[in-house]
Parts: sequence; C-alpha cells; structure tokens
Amino acid sequence: MTQAVKDASSEASGEARALSPRPGVLDIEPYVPGADKGPGGAPAFKLSANESALGASPAAMDAFRAAGDRLHLYPDGSARELRAAIGEAHALDPDRIVCGAGSDELLQLLARAYLGPDDTIVQTRHGFLVYSLAAMACGAKTLMAPERSLTTDVDAVLSTVADTTRIVFLANPNNPTGTYIPDTEIRRLREALPENILLVVDCAYAEYMDADDYCDPAALVEDFSNVVMTRTFSKIYGLGGLRLGWAYCPAPVADALNRIRGPFNVSAAAIAAGAAAVRDQDFVARNRAHNAAERARLQQRLGGLGCEFVPSSANFILMRPAPESGRAASDAIAFLAERGVIVRGVAAYGLPDWLRVSIGAVAANDAFLDALAEFLAP
Ligand SMILES: *Cc1c(COP(=O)(O)O)cnc(C)c1O
Repeated sequence: MTQAVKDASSEASGEARALSPRPGVLDIEPYVPGADKGPGGAPAFKLSANESALGASPAAMDAFRAAGDRLHLYPDGSARELRAAIGEAHALDPDRIVCGAGSDELLQLLARAYLGPDDTIVQTRHGFLVYSLAAMACGAKTLMAPERSLTTDVDAVLSTVADTTRIVFLANPNNPTGTYIPDTEIRRLREALPENILLVVDCAYAEYMDADDYCDPAALVEDFSNVVMTRTFSKIYGLGGLRLGWAYCPAPVADALNRIRGPFNVSAAAIAAGAAAVRDQDFVARNRAHNAAERARLQQRLGGLGCEFVPSSANFILMRPAPESGRAASDAIAFLAERGVIVRGVAAYGLPDWLRVSIGAVAANDAFLDALAEFLAP
C-alpha cells in the first residue's frame, strides 16, 4: 500500500489527525507593532515606530510613482540596480549584498538558513525581539545575555554562548535602549566567538550615529568569514511602508540566502525607490541633522522635567517619565495617547517601567513635551 492510501484508510478507520503547524510555532507571541491611532481611532502624532521625521526623499517618491506605470512586469529578481546603488554609496561589493522585504525578511532568512530545532541563538536581554521570533519559527531557542547599564556586555554574550549556538544577533545601536558598543568591542566579540557561529550585526540605526568610535561593521564582513551586517530603508530613509532592507554578507552566506529567498522577494517599486533613495544622500544628511538637533532638545527638556532617560544614539529615546513618583509608565502612555501623542510601551522587552518615544518632526516633539509636562504637573 502506498503512504497516501495508508493515510486515507487510517482516516477512514477513525484515526483522524488534526492539522497543526510544526511544534513551537504556536508558542510564538506575534510581534506587536507600535500603535498608530489615538483612543477611539483619533488621528495622532505617531512617535511609536521610529519612523523618519522628515518622511521620504522626494527623489524616492518620484521613482515610486514612475514604477506605477510598469506594475504588470515582474521585478528584476536579483535587484541589480538597487545593489549597484548601495554598493556605490557604501563602497561595497554588490555581489555580496542581498536585498529583502525589510531587514525583517533578511533576519528570517538568516534564521532559516542556519538554524534547526536543536539550535540556539544568543541575543541581549533588552535586544530587538524579532531575532527570538525568527529563531522560534525555525524551532530554535533563545539564550538571553544580560546587559550592563542597558548596554550590550560582550563578556556576558560570550559566557551565554553554548555548544548549540549557531547565531549571535546584535543590534548596534540597539532598539529599544538606544545604546551602542564601539567597533573595538564588536571585533573583540567576533575574535572570541567560535568560528562556526555567525555574528549578525543589525545596523538599522547606523545612519544616525556620529560617535567617533562607531563604524558600521562592513569592514568586519570583509575581514571575517562569519559576520553579516543588516541595514534597513525603514528608518532614516523613510521607506518603512515599502518594506526594504539589505544585508552585506560573506560570499557563501549571500549564496545561501539567495538559494532560499523567494525569486522576486523585492518588488519593482521598492527596487526603484530604494535606488533613488540611496543616491539622495543629501536627504539622509538633512534627516540626520534634524534628528541630532531634536534629540539634544528633547533630552535637555526631559532632564528639566525630572525624567530619567538613556542618552540615545538613534532616532528614539528610552525613558522613565517619573522615576521618583512610582507612577507607572502605562499611565503616562495612556495620558499621552489621550492628548494625541502615541509612544511605545516596552514591557515586552523586559522594561515595564520605561517607554520609548521616537524623535519626530518639531510639531510632534512639541506636542509630546507639552503633554508630558501636563502629565508630570503636580
Ligand atoms: C526598525 C528596526 C529594523 C527594521 O526592520 P525592517 O524590517 O527593515 O523595517 C531592524 N532592526 C531593528 C533593531 C529595528 O529597530
């Protein structure tokens, strides 16, 4: 009897088997994005998803609109134009760039390519949650390394690594803490890790950095056979709605990702808009300058209001509204929402007393500061 016939006859004899996903899939708590509406659906200043304060580059929007005339055509499955534009802007080898539908897709692909059911990943205690979700989708587990002062602790990461560990995921700077570790520390981590472990450095906020001891890890990708850097168009480029990200990889890793990704995983509109966005580095510079000025202004006002905050390297600030009063962060979040300002609770990141506010346009930041001052008024 063939297997199919056997299965059919066991069904007929009453041994029905229910359809169910692979073990572990139903243990996954779906990622909850930042809210985008006030109470009752009222429009609001959305400072909950670290989106670009200045929108997107006009050149990127023009390229997107032009792509509207060609919607019937499949995209170039290799995203050649986009990889060439990224390669030129960053002085990287386009053959080792892999593009995806957001860096989310690249994180998922890395997990699928390198993780199986008996494997583990290591990430930091308050690190980006998508890494753990990607691992769980492959049946793998997460080992959490403690942080020091809400910052990655390389020694703690190294002592958390186990024989089962296949990937270490590190966001630098990290979301939601906004802290970073210098290039020398990433290098020290890589040199101490076993060679069969992949180090994935997620640089979603790299463009906002101005510290002298930070460099994006593209040089590490060149120097080692087991480092991947991921980047996104969702933050400083302001293309979150388009879903576009990229990874810079050692050649064998790029090869693995190209084998398992969908053949047309990036849309034609995303390729066109992304390439135009990368070529418009003036827009990126304007956005970076806006962010630096508003970040300084916000942090100064927060200090004046008696709030505790973590000095940020990115386009958001992690803060405790009233550290002395014992009032819950959730009260502040609800109060701000009533006044049309949506910020992010971070209890899911193990930070129930904190909230995260994105650095927005001046009017949004003013609305946030006014509402916060009102919340804190005696
Ligand atoms: C926002 C963010 C991303 C971006 O994800 P996309 O899928 O590219 O939108 C990646 N990593 C971190 C740490 C982030 O905060």
